[in-house]
Formats: sequence, structure tokens, C-alpha cells
Amino acid sequence: MIPRPFAYHAPDTLQAVIALLSEHGDQAKLLAGGHSLLPMMKLRFAAPDHLIDLRRVKELCGIVMSGDEIHIGAMTTEHDIVASALLAEHLPLLVETARQIADPQVRYKGTIGGDVSHGDPGNDHPAVMLALGASFVLVGPNGERIVPAADFFLGTYATAMEPDEVMTQIRIRKAAAGSGASYAKLKRKTGDYATAAAAVVLRLEGGVCAEVSIALTNVAPAAMRADAAEASLMGKTVDDAAIAEAGRHAMEACEPAADLRGDEEYKRAMAGQMVERALRAALLRCAA
Ligand SMILES: Cc1cc2nc3c(=O)[nH]c(=O)nc-3n(C[C@H](O)[C@H](O)[C@H](O)COP(=O)(O)OP(=O)(O)OC[C@H]3O[C@@H](n4cnc5c(N)ncnc54)[C@H](O)[C@@H]3O)c2cc1C
Repeated sequence: MIPRPFAYHAPDTLQAVIALLSEHGDQAKLLAGGHSLLPMMKLRFAAPDHLIDLRRVKELCGIVMSGDEIHIGAMTTEHDIVASALLAEHLPLLVETARQIADPQVRYKGTIGGDVSHGDPGNDHPAVMLALGASFVLVGPNGERIVPAADFFLGTYATAMEPDEVMTQIRIRKAAAGSGASYAKLKRKTGDYATAAAAVVLRLEGGVCAEVSIALTNVAPAAMRADAAEASLMGKTVDDAAIAEAGRHAMEACEPAADLRGDEEYKRAMAGQMVERALRAALLRCAA
């Protein structure tokens, strides 16, 4: 498959990117790693007249600590995340997630900003962003705004980002002392998208659940929080019965669509299993 002809732009500043976006409006598309956009262009689901490559924009790269937050440039690749000592120490959930995305070839080019911006319910970062309470820095012709992950994912390929905005940075509070987190993903084979997956962040106080967030991948039109599952755990000892109950609540909440990875019933059951698996792993990490 061959994409439609397009003009290619390779600006090297954010300001130049915004100017190009303002000039070409919705005729333009931003190019990050290209691993989602280029297949869509080849299939002609996307046919931009202008492609604006972000790879030369240095201000979109890098992972730094700022107070108790970690700031991750949108053009940071999955490979950079896997290799980051800062993330391994302060946000290991992100490293665990990136390791499970696709294969090394995709991880060398694919970016966290592209994964989140694409709005694909099958992508892994959106649920992890919800579980971590991340926020996204969006810059457009009218300046900068910061949107919490909870308000960002609106539906399949639909996000709160305007066509003339660029995601520049992802901001996440570093993991709380004594907390544990896990991303459990079921896939058919290495390199595949999730059949179902769950991200869990858990903190105990006096042996009972004081904070928990649970978010699901690929079992609804967009990544979602499993609110009832979270509520069922609060203030309780996280034992086998509580974990099973949370899994049941997550199954009830999700709205999976049947596809090649499974029918609705199977995906729903797997969402419950992934929540249970992620909760058990997070629990062990709380104690560590
Ligand atoms: C074989 C294969 C397997 C894969 N498996 C997985 C998987 O298991 N899990 C997973 O999560 N992903 C998977 N992916 C997708 C991969 O993670 C992509 O890299 C990701 O979805 C998009 O990131 P990108 O940097 O390639 O973005 P691109 O494809 O370049 O862009 C994607 C979209 O985001 C927009 N965009 C990109 N950057 C920005 C920005 N900074 N601001 C605003 N808009 C922006 C683009 O305009 C485009 O609409 C897979 C891809 C392939 C090819």
C-alpha cells in the first residue's frame, strides 16, 4: 500500500512546529515514531497533505526530575524509557510497561507522546497514564495548557487535544514511598497488542489499602479506570477474597469489542484476570 503524496517538513524548534500547524490546520499531521501514523497513511485511513516531523525538535526529548514529578519529553522513545535509570528508580511501572510494547524495532522509534496522542484503546500507555494520574502538556498557538490523563482519552482515536496542538511533555508524580505497581498484559504472542491488560498502583497503610488505582487497556472504546474495583478494595486487607472481588468489579465495568484477539466474554474474563494478576504483583512490591 502506498500513501497519498504529501509535503514533508522537518522543523527544529517547537515554535516552527506550531507555525506550520497554524498554517496548514487539519491538512497537517505530526510525525513522531511513525509506527501508528505511517500504517494508517498506507491504508489511506489518514491522508495528510503535510507531514511535520518532530524528530529534530530537541526540546521534546529527555527525562528529568522536577521536584516530586518526573517530566518526560513527548519524543522519548520506548527504548529510552526501558533504559532510564531515573524511571527504574522512581517510576518502575513505566519501564515495566514499555518493555511489553511491541518489539525492539518498534521500541527504538515509537515514542511515549505518539502512543498517548494516538488515542488507540489497544495502546498500553493510556491506561498506565490513568493509573499514575499523569498529566499532559499541550502547546498550541494560544500557549500552553495542562490536561490530566483523566480528561484526555475521549474515545477510540479521540482525545482532548486540538488539531493545532502538540503534546510536549508528560508529567507524573514519582511513586509514593511504600507503594507498589504493576502492569499485567495478556497478548497472543510477543510483539502483539493486548487482548486485555491492567495497570495497578497500590499503597497500604497499617496493612490495609489506603490508595489504589486500577486502569484497563483494550476492553472499552478508550482506556478506562475501574472505579468500582478500586472502591471495593479501599480500607480492606488485600487478600485473595478482596482481589477476586476487585477482578469481578472490573469485569462488570468493561465494554470489550470482539476482534481477532477474542470475543466479548473472553476479553471480559481476561480483564478480570489481569486485574487480579496486577494486584498480586503490586501487593508484593508494596511489601518489598
Ligand atoms: C508491529 C507493531 C506492534 C505494536 N504493538 C504495540 C503494543 O503492544 N502496545 C502499544 O502501546 N503500542 C504498540 N504499537 C504502537 C507503537 O507503540 C506506536 O509507536 C505508537 O502507537 C505511536 O507512537 P509513534 O511515536 O510511532 O507515533 P506516530 O505513529 O508518529 O503518531 C501517532 C499519532 O500521534 C500523533 N502524535 C505523535 N506525536 C505527537 C505529539 N508529540 N503531539 C501531538 N500529536 C502527536 C500523530 O500525529 C499521529 O496521529 C505497535 C506498533 C507496531 C507497528
